[in-house]
Amino acid sequence: MTSQAFFIFLFQSARLPKEGETIHGHNFFIGFGGKGANQCVQAARLGAKTAMVAKVCTVTMSNCPSRVPSFVGQTSEAATGVASIIVNDAGENAIVIVAGANMMLNKEELQDALAAITSAKVLVCQLEISPQMSLRALRMAQENKVTTIFNPAPAIPDLDPDFYRLSDVFCCNESEAELLTGSSVNNVEEARCASRELLRRGCGAVIITLGAQGCVVLEAPESTSKHVPTTPVSAVDTTGAGDSFIGALAYYVAHYPAMRLEEVARRAGQVAAVSVQSMGAQSSYPHKRDLGAELF
Ligand code: ADP
Repeated sequence: MTSQAFFIFLFQSARLPKEGETIHGHNFFIGFGGKGANQCVQAARLGAKTAMVAKVCTVTMSNCPSRVPSFVGQTSEAATGVASIIVNDAGENAIVIVAGANMMLNKEELQDALAAITSAKVLVCQLEISPQMSLRALRMAQENKVTTIFNPAPAIPDLDPDFYRLSDVFCCNESEAELLTGSSVNNVEEARCASRELLRRGCGAVIITLGAQGCVVLEAPESTSKHVPTTPVSAVDTTGAGDSFIGALAYYVAHYPAMRLEEVARRAGQVAAVSVQSMGAQSSYPHKRDLGAELF
């Protein structure tokens, strides 16, 4: 997995503040994250052997669980990435990130991780390191027949077309799909349309996650997408649900290579549905022992 390391400052308040407004919150905690780090932790908690490629500030101790061997470069020229998250009582959030040191990950550091990337079963990339480094990592994987999962997040409007061609599975949420296709994606039907458009750009398969509505899965060369509903649960905090989903997706793709993508997505959705029932991102991710045997 290529990845990012971030400090997370999470605030809970009754509602999200409006522009220019200051409001009282009722809870606060500091955690660890970065989309890649979250995905890596979720996959590791299900039993995957994982490695992270990231970059942090020299003075930072990174959050690397001992079982996650990592290629974490250091720099004194930028701060470790940081994210400020506000969660309201409905479990909705607003997030600002400053990627910092992650954007300084360079090709020499990526090269140091070559053996880990090319011997992996799955590589997961996002956009919290520079797009050029993500593309380079995806190419390394594809040339070595490693399955690639690309999560275009945080989304950028003019995504290099190579990202589609280098993605065995292109997995994004509604707002990312909307930005990339230029069409609104608010329901299952719109997600089906967006998935067809994204598949047409060259990926092997597309998954668009839809929060409580589950996800839509479309695999080449099929033209009919599948809607995979999720388990109805009472959501407390949906922060990092997409990362839980993608971490679980990577775990199932690596461990059950013959499993249909629809079933992989169903199981990943069940894992992510557990994560929304408690606060935080990594802190809410279930371990294998917390989940039913039917998921393994
Ligand atoms: P992101 O965090 O990227 O916005 P989503 O909100 O689409 O991602 O959530 C990813 C997955 O997490 C969904 O496809 C679904 O399986 C699960 N999930 C998210 N919110 C809920 C919810 N309220 N109830 C049940 N499952 C949920």
